[in-house]
Amino acid sequence: MMKDSHWRSGWRICLLLAIALPTLEAVHAADVTVVFRYDDYSARSDTAVERRLFESFRSRNIPLVVGAIPCIGATGRDDGEVLPHEKADLLREAVEMGTVDVAVHGYCHVKTGWWTELAGLPYEEQLFRLQRGRDLLKEAMGVEAATFIPPYNAYDRDTLRVMQQVGYACLCAGKIGPTGDGELRFLPSTCGFGLARRAIESAARGAHPRIVVILFHAFDLAGSERSDSADFLGWPAFDDFLEWVQRQENVTVRSISELLDSDTDLSGRRFIANRRLSWVPSFVPGFLVGLLGTETHAYLSTGEVESFRFAKVGLYSLTAGLYAALLGIGMTLAVWLRRRRKRPLVVLLRRAAIVLLVAAIVYGCRDLTIGVHFAMIASVLGGVCLGLCEPGLFSVRRAVR
Ligand SMILES: [Zn+2]
Repeated sequence: MMKDSHWRSGWRICLLLAIALPTLEAVHAADVTVVFRYDDYSARSDTAVERRLFESFRSRNIPLVVGAIPCIGATGRDDGEVLPHEKADLLREAVEMGTVDVAVHGYCHVKTGWWTELAGLPYEEQLFRLQRGRDLLKEAMGVEAATFIPPYNAYDRDTLRVMQQVGYACLCAGKIGPTGDGELRFLPSTCGFGLARRAIESAARGAHPRIVVILFHAFDLAGSERSDSADFLGWPAFDDFLEWVQRQENVTVRSISELLDSDTDLSGRRFIANRRLSWVPSFVPGFLVGLLGTETHAYLSTGEVESFRFAKVGLYSLTAGLYAALLGIGMTLAVWLRRRRKRPLVVLLRRAAIVLLVAAIVYGCRDLTIGVHFAMIASVLGGVCLGLCEPGLFSVRRAVR
């Protein structure tokens, strides 16, 4: 009898939990905003791909942000190719239908330095490029863009000052970069197609609203030479993905202009918080970043970034532990060889360790970044050197001799 009543109570608790847990989940389900950002619309881009792309968004009644290059290929003043009538008309029609939210993507998209068109250029030169680019697009389409997308996501503080002088409201680049003073707003891209589904699913499970900005190019849809890239989708998978996004509850596709007109926080403060979370030194192994989930591939609210503070501390602690373990392995190996009195090996190892350590330091310092492989090799070699140089080495030398 007693046993029966226990079973009944147990079942009741299970039933209550089964009802309560999904309800709690639903209460905490966060709103997810998805922004599609298509870059490199220009006089040279593939019009057939873009026609098909705009139609995909128009038929589903969802917006697409298009970064248009006003004067592609220019190396001087206005010697590049502006949008021909056909491309300007295609873009204008898509804007008028409410499908496309147009942004200015640099001026000519020609590199003037290491993966940059603008960063490092004098203020006056940047002013010319940003002003002229905006004017050219306005002449071609009659639209004054509010958002600026620097080519290669590269910009500097002068770019931000120039943007405000020219009258842009929002910068859309990557998660890493400077912020200026003033009213400028920021919405970085957070992932490509390869990680987009995971980023949206993860955002939808969270308790805070997130924005997922998916950056893509024509070659992610129709480029044969990039078809082995993780971000390559191709048309059938792309259509499936758009439909999947539309089916998700609490997920809304928006344009940047819609977000600028809403009360969505796109402040410099939010950008700084996300930059702090996203930035990890180059020697931190990617698998640890994935393990602790500090890279969300989404734009988090300032409050949510705070909740990742302990994960970030854990990330650095595990990294330090990993390199300390590798150092220990190197030391143990050296001490073991020494104790086994393998003189030729000890001599060889000592010389090799010193040479390899110097080579690793020279290699690692060539671009002043310490990569994971460099840090791992240097830790083991450093351990070997320490193991051979610890007190007692000379007595061992004598013993070996
Ligand atoms: Zn570009």
